[in-house]
Amino acid sequence: MYAIKRELKLNNKETSLMRGIAGFRRFVYNFGLEMVIASWSFEGISLSDSKRIDTIKQLFTQVVMKMPEHGWMKRYPSTVYQSAFIDLKKAFKRWREGLSNFPKKKTKKRGDSFTVYKTSGVYPQKGKPAIPFTKRVVIKAGKKILLTGLKEFRLKERINFTCSSQTFTVSRTADKWFVSFVLDAEKVPPIYHPIERVGVDLGVKTLATVSDGTCYAMPVSNQRAKTKLSKLQWRNRNKALGSKRLGIKASNNARGYYVKLARYYARIGNIRRDTIVKMTTDLSRSAYCIRIEDLNVLGMMGNHKLAAAVSDNCFYEVRRQLIYKQSHYATKVELVDRWFPSSKTCSCCGHVQDMKLSDRVFDCQKCDNVMDRDLNAAINLANAPKEKVRLARA
Ligand SMILES: [Zn+2]
Repeated sequence: MYAIKRELKLNNKETSLMRGIAGFRRFVYNFGLEMVIASWSFEGISLSDSKRIDTIKQLFTQVVMKMPEHGWMKRYPSTVYQSAFIDLKKAFKRWREGLSNFPKKKTKKRGDSFTVYKTSGVYPQKGKPAIPFTKRVVIKAGKKILLTGLKEFRLKERINFTCSSQTFTVSRTADKWFVSFVLDAEKVPPIYHPIERVGVDLGVKTLATVSDGTCYAMPVSNQRAKTKLSKLQWRNRNKALGSKRLGIKASNNARGYYVKLARYYARIGNIRRDTIVKMTTDLSRSAYCIRIEDLNVLGMMGNHKLAAAVSDNCFYEVRRQLIYKQSHYATKVELVDRWFPSSKTCSCCGHVQDMKLSDRVFDCQKCDNVMDRDLNAAINLANAPKEKVRLARA
């Protein structure tokens, strides 16, 4: 799988259309969520989450949508509410499997998004030979995209090649709108990797240290953006920020501040994302087998997307991207047991010694190996014994 994401170039009319559709999606999702919770209080109904949501969807299309006050819903593509119910099912599934918290109501603040997709191809017509069904939309190379069920929109950056997809997700970050879709075709992987195997030590100060000596760090612009953010927050510390719980309305100035704040967060997120994307691509191009430490990802994930966007702990994202790029670059990602003492072992003689977190240099007590702590750990990860390593799965 390979995905493309582009910023949309919208005029005011188009922006309000997007806001309207995102609002519709939110309405449907929250309606579904409330109904699922409400239905649990009725006794004698034993349905799976999925069946329950199907029933609620029927109720929605046959009753709710037909109410005169909901006439506006017909203006929007039907795939918007269809996919809202699909998303709700997925959210419940993830929760049941312990992969995420209980589904939350969608709010404007947590970012708007909606999905449209092509439902059918050319139906066979009477008297004409049957045409094979196709659910694919062809996307031509260029700076425009046709969103199925809507219309054509302009893009800020061009799509470089003609491709096809079925599902399109439109999302908003701060005041920017994006479209993303998964391509059917796969990127052609490089045949040759210059390095057979590397170990990658992920850290907070240096983003990553590779066993061949390469270092990746967050760019200076990241720190600058973070400083600007904290200055903005400090300057606005006395605004009446409003609180739903206490029934306090946000002041006009505070609302402007929120818009600004969202933009700052988005900028920091963009820098981080950009750096990680480039780093993981770089790694996947240069080495066939990539070894990283197997940390407790679930515990790190949580649901605090905004916090994670600013915090420097990129471990989960790096790991996700390396795994996701396996198929494009024909790489193999391996996880090294989290109890393997990668930073306490000498990469030359194998001597194990205690290391404080503050020790930045590994100074072996047995041989005369003196080495940067992270580089030493990265080499150990690359050379970890087989029984401490497992293959990472998507
Ligand atoms: Zn040693």
